This record gives sequence, structure tokens and C-alpha cells, in this order.
Amino acid sequence: MPTIFSKIIAKEIPSEIVFQDDRVTAFKDINPIAPVHILIVPNKEIPTVDDVTEADEAILGHMFVVAKNVARQLGIAEKGYRLIVNCKSDGGQEVFHLHMHLVGGKRLGAMLVRHE
Ligand code: AMP
Repeated sequence: MPTIFSKIIAKEIPSEIVFQDDRVTAFKDINPIAPVHILIVPNKEIPTVDDVTEADEAILGHMFVVAKNVARQLGIAEKGYRLIVNCKSDGGQEVFHLHMHLVGGKRLGAMLVRHE
């Protein structure tokens, strides 16, 4: 089912796109959690990580190459960054069009609070 990300990819609603090709679109998160917060989204609608198939392996790999290139483009590659993919409700996924968060521009600290 199409989400707001499909409209961003099709440029039907405004967003700050930093990279786009025939497979992937990368744009600024509207509610950033760090100085740099980019969403890297396959143009193909894949709802969640739980829906990926072997046919998606190339596009998923391409998302990492785009993440690396965008991180360099935005000047955060040298110090580093974090890539996050949330899956479904326990993973904190809000938009059901698979996406990778590229987050950086400051020291991010611990990824998760330790489970007790
Ligand atoms: P997730 O919780 O992993 O599904 O992340 C969804 C992300 O999409 C959140 O960080 C939102 O801030 C972001 N988001 C939602 N709507 C938009 C939008 N129109 N433009 C850019 N980012 C958005």
C-alpha cells in the first residue's frame, strides 16, 4: 500500500531530496534526531524488512552504497554515522515503506538502553 514516501519519490509532495536515481531516493527527515538525518528509500514499495525477498538483494545493497555516498556528500563520513532500519511496531517503524535512516553530525552515544 502506498505511503507518503511514494509521493515524495514521485515528487508529488515537497521534500529535500539529496540524491535520487532509478532505484533509490534519499531525502532529509522532516523531524531530524541529529544534525544530519537522511532517509534512504527504495523507489519500489517494500513495506518492511519482513517483506524483502532474494529478488531485493541488489536494491538493498545499493542502499548501502547510496548511504556511503550521501554521507561523504554531506561531510559526515570521516567521523562516522549510524544506519538504522526499523521493522514493524516493536522496531518502532512508523512509515510502512522500507527505509534506512542515515544519522550523524554529532556523537550519537549508546544505540539502545540495556535490557534488564
Ligand atoms: P520510522 O519510524 O523508521 O518508520 O521512520 C519514519 C521517519 O519518517 C520518521 O523519522 C519521520 O520523521 C519521517 N517522516 C515522516 N514523514 C516525512 C516527510 N513527509 N518527509 C520527511 N520525513 C518524514
